[in-house]
Order: sequence, then C-alpha cells, then structure tokens
Amino acid sequence: MIIVQFCIGTVIGSFLQVVNQRQLAHQSWITPRSRCDQCREPLKWYELVPIISYLSLRGRCRYCRVSIPHTTLFSELFGGLCLLQWTPTGPSTLQSLLGLGLILLANRDQTTTNLSQLWLIAAFVFALITRVFFTPPTLWTLLVVFVWAALQIVTIEFPGVGLADLDVACLVLVLFSPITATWLFLIASISALLSCLTHQRNGVPFLPHLTVAYLLILYIN
Ligand SMILES: [Zn+2]
Repeated sequence: MIIVQFCIGTVIGSFLQVVNQRQLAHQSWITPRSRCDQCREPLKWYELVPIISYLSLRGRCRYCRVSIPHTTLFSELFGGLCLLQWTPTGPSTLQSLLGLGLILLANRDQTTTNLSQLWLIAAFVFALITRVFFTPPTLWTLLVVFVWAALQIVTIEFPGVGLADLDVACLVLVLFSPITATWLFLIASISALLSCLTHQRNGVPFLPHLTVAYLLILYIN
C-alpha cells in the first residue's frame, strides 16, 4: 500500500510541476501533451514515469540534451514523500493536501519569486481550517490570524525576507504549536544556510526549505 501511495504522490508531484511551468507560460494545464520546452518534441509514455525517467535521462532531454529543471525531480520526490506518510484520517488528509500545496508554492518560489497572492491566501485559509476543524482555536491561533490579516493590509519589509515567506510563516504558526513551529523554522533555516554555503550565494528562496522542514515534521509527528 505504501508503494502505491508513494507512486501516486510522485504522479501528483509531476503534475504540480507541469501546472507551475504551464501557468508561467500562460498555457493550459491539460493540453498539449507533455513535451520538451526547448525542442518541442513530445515525450514518450516511458519518459513520463516520475523520478525514474529523470534519473535515467540524467536530467537532460533525450533529443536536444537541454537540462530538465531540477525542480521536476524535487516536485516528484516530495509529492511521493508527502503521500507516503498519509493515513486515512481527516487531519492526515488535510495535512497531506497542504503539503502538496506547499510543494507547488515552493516550486514557484524556486522558479520565480513572484508568487500568486491568491494561492498564498488560499493556503493560509486551508491551514486555518485544518487547525480549527480538529483542535479548538487558542489565543495563539487568534494572534497569528491577527498578524496574518495585518500583513495583508500593511506591507512590512524585512531585509532578505519576502512577503510570501511571511505569509507561509504565518501558515506554519497557525497549523502547529509554537514549539513544533520553532523546530520547523530551525530545520528550514539550517537547510537554507547550507544551501547558501554550498552555492556560495547571499540568499536562496526560502519556501523550498520550509517545505522540506514541513514534510520532515509530518514524519516526526
Ligand atoms: Zn528537447
């Protein structure tokens, strides 16, 4: 069963990657069939198998050898890992759905820093529903909702921190207890710092690291 869950997750992750790429190109999510963005060659069915096709092609198009975005592999892998921990309960289902939403946001953050405000609002509202549906709201929940609402009205800028990062930070804070959220931010920050050092950059998109930490916390919890 867990193999089936993982495989379904990789297919969903692959679809999320297509959604991201096609939305950036202002194309339909469904048609045309998958093809190389560079040489426009339609992909064969065996080139659509998540993870395996990317690894067997060593991350390059079979025809023109252009690099396939590495976000493809991450999206498929994280989609698989997200569904692998799913159990048939309400909270687990909502947390898994939110995880898939975060993968989509992280994918977009990695590609372009221009994140849809509508997506961010939808993700926060979904997280809030997930929290209050299964756990009575606390003063902490109300405080985070207040801060999030204020951020939607007033633009506050912190050096090196994007507005989308603040929105997703609120999402994490409303979903988890303060202690769990602190662990999540710590893991994400260490991951981002290691990425900065590895790539010798002053800054990296934070949402991919937050998504990794989110998935890790789902497994630990
Ligand atoms: Zn190609």
